[in-house]
Amino acid sequence: IAARPAPYLEGLNAAQRAAVETLEGPVLMLAGAGTGKTRALTTRIAHLLMLGKARPGQILAVTFTNKAAREMKDRIAALLGETVEGMPWLGTFHSICVKILRRHAELIGNGELHLKPAFTILDTDDQIRLLKQLIQAENLDEKRWPARQLAHLIDGWKNRCLPPSNLPKREKAAFDGWGGRLYAAYQERLLSLNAVDFGDLLMHCVTLFQAHPDVLKSWQERFRYILVDEYQDTNVAQYMWLRLLAQAHRNICCVGDDDQSIYGWRGAEVGNILRFEQDFPGAQVVRLEQNYRSTPQILSAASGLIAANSGRLGKTLWTEAEAGEKVRLIGHWDSEAEARWIGEEIEAFQGGHRAGLGKVSLDDIAILVRASHQMRAFEDRFMTIGLPYRVIGGPRFYERAEIRDAMAYFRLVVSPADDLAFERIVNTPKRGLGDKALQTIQTVARRHGVPLLEAARIAVEEGQLTGKGLVNLRDFVAALGRWHADALDAGASHIELAERILDESGYTAMWQNDKSPDAPGRLDNLKELVKALEEFDNLQGFLEHVALVMDRDEGEAGEEVSIMTLHGAKGLEFPVVFLPGWEDGLFPNQRAMDENGTKGLEEERRLAYVGITRAERLAVISFAGNRRLYGQWQSSMPSRFIDELPEEHIEILTPPGLYGGGYGAAMAFAGANAGTDMHDRAAQADVYNSPGWKRMQARAAERKAPVRRAPVTIDTEAAAHFSVGDKV
Ligand code: ATP
Ligand code: MG
Repeated sequence: IAARPAPYLEGLNAAQRAAVETLEGPVLMLAGAGTGKTRALTTRIAHLLMLGKARPGQILAVTFTNKAAREMKDRIAALLGETVEGMPWLGTFHSICVKILRRHAELIGNGELHLKPAFTILDTDDQIRLLKQLIQAENLDEKRWPARQLAHLIDGWKNRCLPPSNLPKREKAAFDGWGGRLYAAYQERLLSLNAVDFGDLLMHCVTLFQAHPDVLKSWQERFRYILVDEYQDTNVAQYMWLRLLAQAHRNICCVGDDDQSIYGWRGAEVGNILRFEQDFPGAQVVRLEQNYRSTPQILSAASGLIAANSGRLGKTLWTEAEAGEKVRLIGHWDSEAEARWIGEEIEAFQGGHRAGLGKVSLDDIAILVRASHQMRAFEDRFMTIGLPYRVIGGPRFYERAEIRDAMAYFRLVVSPADDLAFERIVNTPKRGLGDKALQTIQTVARRHGVPLLEAARIAVEEGQLTGKGLVNLRDFVAALGRWHADALDAGASHIELAERILDESGYTAMWQNDKSPDAPGRLDNLKELVKALEEFDNLQGFLEHVALVMDRDEGEAGEEVSIMTLHGAKGLEFPVVFLPGWEDGLFPNQRAMDENGTKGLEEERRLAYVGITRAERLAVISFAGNRRLYGQWQSSMPSRFIDELPEEHIEILTPPGLYGGGYGAAMAFAGANAGTDMHDRAAQADVYNSPGWKRMQARAAERKAPVRRAPVTIDTEAAAHFSVGDKV
């Protein structure tokens, strides 16, 4: 008599059940977004436990984020109720490696030195500081030899599981010949500090397994069942680690989607998923095709887009859901207008004033951005209108190091007595002021009962400092005096002043000279900061605004809109998803394309696919015709991905009247900026030949709304975007 299946199995379709019930041997679940891969994986764990195939401690499940691990734990607990004691080894690669390494720390070392179980894990800042010291110790010029660049190299080696001793000759020669040597010195230094960095967690674990077969054997025997989510994003080190651990029982179940591989830039190899069947002969491959997350409109739009990629495995996706709302597309005048509009839409959804969706809770809405600097406009806008939001997976805009630095400059300019600000930036960028110089300033401040900046001035005057530090500090104090006077001058532009402060202080240059991969992003954030100033009359007003934004209590209960990057949204789902900033250069991201050509573009396209497929009921894509950088208009073209969306699943929305004056006022506005516009006539003519423009014309014709061709003397690109279906 066939027993009734356990209730937790009843909620699965046949393919999912096959994946859940095929317990022995390797299994690869390869399926598109929203087909229930993660759900099947979770159920599989519950099933293993219910059947008593393994005790919780014998199951190893790897997730991509800690958040995903927590959610999986909750789900398993819900599926099982009180029936099973203990929990599986469930977490990210890093968190599981930490647990393993603590037990064998003594085996990690070089003969003389070894780790101790209480080792510390360095964060990126510590890592950089350490590398800087090593670079200095070799008497290399820090400007030419940025620690961040070295950190990036070392991370890359660790992702590929290459300790200094195994580094190929060619790679040792990186960093102009210093790479291998500095890497070895760094590893040595870490050991002496009883510390590891993130990359070490995996690399040490793998080398531990390779060097100590007995240790490996004990872990292989322990983990009877291994499960891996988001397998398409594993890098070489993670892959080696999994292969080693899975060799004994060979019960490894990996789930993934080649179309969602978005971490190639961090060393992930989508090839891992394609090679699974070779690595684990006899592997069962389960394909899931029914999507439970999104409406057909959303799915078709996403599928149409990803079809432009080459070398895909290809998948069928279908759903029983009602057709639903078309993916909405809207162009805005600029990024501020975009943020304003999205804020209004969200309020309308919340109040149930939008057709087709009913009332939507703020918790059900997400804004997914390509680059973190895009968050600023939303944070400011939501702050202003009192719309609760949370930023997931990263600091909020105003908490970023470079933003805090820049703000410290502004604060010190406005309030010369702001000692905290002084301390933060007096030696950033480096002004050759050592601890001793700073102590001197502190002493003078105490003696005279004055703020640090004033004390610095006195110390300079009294000749209490010497050498390079003296000259630099004198310049610094003088510059602050100038900037302060300018800030008091009501006639001067506070935006220009802000730019001047960042330039003259050498702060912008510090990041421009920084060769690390995150430096360009930081420069973008700084530009974004200057842009934010435009909404205020002076620096003072801006500083007050930011103080308020920063003061917001993180822990506030209640509904909140989620803001996060596309990368951070992997695996998640929301009923309503806003996808702003679909402009060429921003998304697809110019750097990704410059560095990796077609491969980079395809990864960007997968990221777009991930974005759209996060939506359950509605996806809204938007672009801005202008982004302002340093107070100058930068016209932008709609993303090429917009051209790739299948038209039948897209609804174009009409941009609202802008700046209260509608089209005419906006045109005049653009005209006023024409002098600073970089686009010449040839470039303007190009606009009319671009696919984006033609497509808009075609669409507008369909809608019988004329596309206005703007006078050529003004910023036509911006005007082109603005006039899409515009009602005047
Ligand atoms: P992604 O590729 O984005 O990570 P996924 O394949 O992991 O997606 P899940 O997150 O597991 O998909 O599932 C998507 C949604 O569909 C979830 O809300 C899940 O609860 C639901 N779901 C999955 N399987 C079923 C099913 N058999 N019946 C009903 N709902 C399901
Ligand atoms: Mg998933």
